[in-house]
Amino acid sequence: MHKVTLIPGDGIGPEITEAVKQIFTAAEAPVEWEVCQAGQAGIDQCGDPLPEATVASIRANRLALKGPLTTQIGKGYRSINVTLRQTFDLYCNLRPVKTLRGIASRYTDIDTVVFRENTEDLYAGIEHMVEESAAESIKIITRHASLRIADAAFTYALKNGRKKVTAVHKANIMKLTDGLFLQCAREIAGKYSQIAYEEVIVDNMCMQLVVCPEKYDILLAPNLYGDIISDLCAGLVGGLGVVPGANLGNNCAIFEAVHGTAPDIAGKNIANPIAMLLSGVLLLEHIGEKQIAARIRTAVETVLAEGVVLTPDLGGKATTTALTNEIVGKLDS
Ligand code: NAD
Repeated sequence: MHKVTLIPGDGIGPEITEAVKQIFTAAEAPVEWEVCQAGQAGIDQCGDPLPEATVASIRANRLALKGPLTTQIGKGYRSINVTLRQTFDLYCNLRPVKTLRGIASRYTDIDTVVFRENTEDLYAGIEHMVEESAAESIKIITRHASLRIADAAFTYALKNGRKKVTAVHKANIMKLTDGLFLQCAREIAGKYSQIAYEEVIVDNMCMQLVVCPEKYDILLAPNLYGDIISDLCAGLVGGLGVVPGANLGNNCAIFEAVHGTAPDIAGKNIANPIAMLLSGVLLLEHIGEKQIAARIRTAVETVLAEGVVLTPDLGGKATTTALTNEIVGKLDS
């Protein structure tokens, strides 16, 4: 049994994490959940958006599956997602983006993995007012963080039979910060001669991803560009409801869907649990439970390919409960 911290989160979080629990139980995944709160639910239940008990649980288990958390825009407490990444030094944000049969999309045959640096860049949160009418945010890029995310991307490429890493940057304008990021990526690329390496400027990258996404294999980016292209890539394969994610460090890993709390549909039992479930599948793969992971993934693909029981975001009319039951029903077929 692997003990895993489960943070249901806010909005649709409790509905979709409940679905994951049911499917994991049905698949006999060797996971014991330790339920903890964070975000608005943390404030409501424990008076703290990141209660100490939640941090202690993740520290002890070194594995967590996290639902989406509310982050207020332009005010309120600091993003708990960012705080968790920094607390546990989860330097690597990994987002596999793959065409799923049965999901309506303009593209086919997309199979890309985004490696986003997760701890610095403009997300370091170093901001201040210069004067009443001007604000400043400081972009931090370090050699240490750039080398380790580049190494994570190339190591993954090698282990998973990938062919090419594309570094995404804006070093033509940010010559020092993005220049350092590129210099580190080149250094690591030099150690992996069997993997092709190229560099693309972020604005061009966005266009290329819309025009010919199938050309890209592994994308390597600093935090801000990585955040943006991750969502762009999610849109290429059917949207936020189907794309999983992982935040990896050397001692701890937190898995989460790419989407947010979806307040517009929270509590209506129509949220799509698939992104959260596939994040759980990434967790199972991470801990070596590859067979159970493959069983769940195949069940999801079967349900999507049949295209009968789908939630509204996927063009269907099914509830979260019905889709969950359908996936459970396909586990052994
Ligand atoms: P969102 O992802 O919550 O919603 C965008 C749109 O996608 C909405 O129409 C929503 O209904 C839909 N959607 C998202 N997930 C879905 C799902 N599983 N099934 C069906 N439809 C789904 O983005 P937002 O509205 O910009 O953000 C809402 C809140 O979520 C904010 O507080 C934001 O800070 C937070 N957020 C959290 C995370 C996270 O915790 N990782 C990520 C992004 C946003």
